[in-house]
Amino acid sequence: MSALTLLEYKSSKRRQKKLTLKKPYLNFIGGVWKKSSTDRIFVNVNPANTDDVVGVFPYSGKQDVDQAVMSAEKAFDQWRKMPAPKRGEILFRSGQLLEKQKEALAKLMTREMGKPLRETRGDVQEAIDTAYYIAGEGRRLLGQTTTSELPNKLAMTVRMPIGVCGIITPWNFPIAVPSWKIYPALICGNTMVFKPAEDTPASACMFVEILEKAGVPKGVINLVHGGPSTGELIVHHPKTRLISFTGSSEVGSIIGEACGRMIKNCSMEMGGKNAQIVMDDADLDLAIEGAVWGAFGTTGQRCTATSRIIVHKDIYETFKRRLVKRAKTLRLGDGLNEKIDVGPLINKSQHQKVKAYMGVAKQDGAKLELGGGIPRGAGYKKGYFFEPTIFSEVTPNMRIAQEEIFGPVTALIRIKNLDEAVKVLNSTDYGLSSSIFTRDINKAMVAVRDIEAGLTYVNGPTIGAEVHLPFGGVKKTGNGHREAGSTVLDIFTEWKSVFVDYSGKLQKAQMDE
Ligand code: ADP
Repeated sequence: MSALTLLEYKSSKRRQKKLTLKKPYLNFIGGVWKKSSTDRIFVNVNPANTDDVVGVFPYSGKQDVDQAVMSAEKAFDQWRKMPAPKRGEILFRSGQLLEKQKEALAKLMTREMGKPLRETRGDVQEAIDTAYYIAGEGRRLLGQTTTSELPNKLAMTVRMPIGVCGIITPWNFPIAVPSWKIYPALICGNTMVFKPAEDTPASACMFVEILEKAGVPKGVINLVHGGPSTGELIVHHPKTRLISFTGSSEVGSIIGEACGRMIKNCSMEMGGKNAQIVMDDADLDLAIEGAVWGAFGTTGQRCTATSRIIVHKDIYETFKRRLVKRAKTLRLGDGLNEKIDVGPLINKSQHQKVKAYMGVAKQDGAKLELGGGIPRGAGYKKGYFFEPTIFSEVTPNMRIAQEEIFGPVTALIRIKNLDEAVKVLNSTDYGLSSSIFTRDINKAMVAVRDIEAGLTYVNGPTIGAEVHLPFGGVKKTGNGHREAGSTVLDIFTEWKSVFVDYSGKLQKAQMDE
């Protein structure tokens, strides 16, 4: 975590003094900003400069989660009965408020998690787009009307809200990912307990303040800060009816198991090991730009990041040389500086993990072409910076070609033809995003058909989802749900089939008369 325990943080006197000046952030429960019931706190620092304390936050415990669930439960009946278009108006207003606060939010987010300002602006924009798109769902939330096998009988389907939802989110999209869950949950008439990642709690506070200002009634959204044990309390609470989680596959499997045992709805969006295929007929300039953006955007810390590049043998050497040349021009540094392309990694443990993969790659026989280390220079001393890194001569089974690294590291794999490219692309446990660069429509369509992934881009990078299309993955990336698009409504509602018999007599289905 860039979030530190108090003990870790207070290891220096200078820091202690600074800390006492900080007013702790609060939870938001039942429409009131309040202290947590525990004495535990955590310190959130800027990953580009760990001397910069973003804030001090409560590490919430059982009493806080109980209160939050209780207030969400209490608010449910009134909220679910508010006409959905009215709920949509509140969402729409929150989109307008987000627009007004876009710059302030982007700055806070960059300070909190490091990605460059143009990317955090994009993060807020994604939440704005989601607000407006989902607000419109208030006037749709479509079901079906259909025939009945019996005369004088009407059959239709309606969507029902589920109840209290637990929303557990990661730090890499501090506003966008919560908005993907919170807005659909709200429009469908659910109430919720939201636990943001411990690395980005300040952005979450600002988002919840905006929702409050837009008119979300008290108790409908409750915010509790904390870490894994806080998340666990939400998952295990008997009154949370649905858990919507985005994060690592390791944590996802723990949450999925708990929900399975408790027979609780659960939608999970987890890791990826995404690949970009570059065929010999590709527009190389475009494929290189796509690879650079896909691999090093957000410092490679996107679940859709391009961590493998599968390149046709005939252009492999040229592609490699030009990719390395282009990646060398990337400017690494504090994302608050507008000129920066690549920010720091999120925290110490991620920094150590990425570093450890350098040894793993070399041991497995991969060849380091660029980067591979912590950059030198005064500007990098206080942050979790890591150089954009390219390995070549990677084979599909090497660990760097199989495991999610979540850093600015990409692996070049050589292939002979499209068939092999698709096989290699599919040869991981994950299936989130994918892309192919080719000028041949036939090859592109074969790839679209055969790639096992929730997203396939033709002549575009593996990153860059749009809010009105389903987002999610196959295999160990997800558990069969899709966020965004209209499919997200299926996560946050249950179907009810309704039969209206206007025959005036008892009609029995399936009986031979
Ligand atoms: P990342 O590796 O991206 O930091 P994690 O999967 O560790 O992602 O965490 C994602 C979110 O899940 C965070 O909000 C974190 O606090 C929460 N979390 C971590 N462990 C658990 C758990 N066992 N139960 C519930 N939530 C958890």
